[in-house]
Amino acid sequence: MKDRILANTEPKEVFHYFEDLTCIPRESGNEAAVCAYLVEFAKAHGLEYQTDDAHNIIMRRSAGKGFEDRAGVILQAHMDMVCEKNAGVEHDFAKDPISFEIEGDKIIARDTTLGADDGIGVALALAILADKSREYPALEFVCTADEERGMTGVEAFDGSLLQGSTLINLDSDDEGVFIIGCAGGPVVKVFLPIAREAAPADVSTLRISVRGLLGGHSGEDIHRCRANSIKLLCRLLYTLKESVALSLVDFMGGLKYNAIPREAEAIIAVPAGDVAKVEELTAAYQTVVAKEYRFSDPDISITCAAADAARQVLTKASRDGLLNYLYFTQSGIVRMNPEFPDIVESSVSLGVVRLEAEQAVIHVMTRSSMKSMYEEMFCHIRRLTELHGATYEVMSCCPEWEYDPDSGVKKTCGELYQKLYGKAPKYMVLHAGLECGELGEKAPRKLDMISLGPDVRNLHSPGEYVTISSTQKVWHFLRELLCQL
Ligand SMILES: [Zn+2]
Repeated sequence: MKDRILANTEPKEVFHYFEDLTCIPRESGNEAAVCAYLVEFAKAHGLEYQTDDAHNIIMRRSAGKGFEDRAGVILQAHMDMVCEKNAGVEHDFAKDPISFEIEGDKIIARDTTLGADDGIGVALALAILADKSREYPALEFVCTADEERGMTGVEAFDGSLLQGSTLINLDSDDEGVFIIGCAGGPVVKVFLPIAREAAPADVSTLRISVRGLLGGHSGEDIHRCRANSIKLLCRLLYTLKESVALSLVDFMGGLKYNAIPREAEAIIAVPAGDVAKVEELTAAYQTVVAKEYRFSDPDISITCAAADAARQVLTKASRDGLLNYLYFTQSGIVRMNPEFPDIVESSVSLGVVRLEAEQAVIHVMTRSSMKSMYEEMFCHIRRLTELHGATYEVMSCCPEWEYDPDSGVKKTCGELYQKLYGKAPKYMVLHAGLECGELGEKAPRKLDMISLGPDVRNLHSPGEYVTISSTQKVWHFLRELLCQL
């Protein structure tokens, strides 16, 4: 057994479990060991528990003296972590413990992810369940598996097991900021039929590349108004098509449905005599775009180079169908939150385009904290798809957590935070998904929910850290809060 690095770090109760977790492999999809650890914890503390095939676990601590009449409280966190390491680092996430150190106020893993997302949330919950020094209302702890790859753990969780009526999610990463809602919405995959024909005679084949965009998370970074490479490329092809006889050979852009696409590429064929014109128009377009995006994406590069001769091109109808579809697909912010004007309420992102033999496959993701808004965005996608004789499939649809202005737990948190720390906390509606959306929908009764957590930075990247001081504050806050609910 290695020496425990956090043996003397306060709150010891919390860091004890956190350090245990850093020794257990828990990449998303590989949760058997961590689930077994949680089962052992429940047994050792005499807690009733239940697991399922997805490796989710729920455990219960009964109400303490004086709390018998209060409604139960659900604590919630996820057991899996994102496993990333720096190039050249020897680390096997399937068996090696995470190596980390204390650096001032930080607990940091230099070369890998630390797993404070959401190991610190799990550790806080375990420390509460094990806390003999206080009485609490009846507590349930729902610890889900496989959150990071698209929340499949919580999707498989049996919501009818939930008994409490207040839920505290411990997967937030900013101390003093309470999350009071999150976005949901369908991810749609569109199949647009395409047909090809022989390439016209005497054409030159060119590759148009859009590169150097910053991209980012299509929810959490959408307010930065960064360029979308697919949209940029589509707009250029429209411009070219108005001046030269352009045939489309191929079009691809984006890698993930939930990221703003950073690169896109088209192969086109144009009459040999028009190559200079295409180069000129591309250069002019680059100048326009460089100006439009000089703050958000200062390194955009749009280039045009010779490519291998193509034998086949899209028919005119298929070319126009594809370009029209991409051109008229909404992408970006649809509406800011009328109540919290700095926060995006609704957005759509055109994420990926690929051409296959007989169809173009296009991924579009909607997000909104208001159900009727994402339903409306979905309608727009559906109507556009129908207009183009295309079909679609809903890949996933994460439920929203709509902000409740009358939330009792929000009010209690606000008053307690003010009392303990002499200042008002901040509130945020997240423009991304949280497991609260799914749990809120599955619970047998309406849940009053909030999400909180200590400061975790560089999430999902090597160099991830959690601060000790913010963990102390959250621990203190959480213990007080539970007594007041
Ligand atoms: Zn997380």
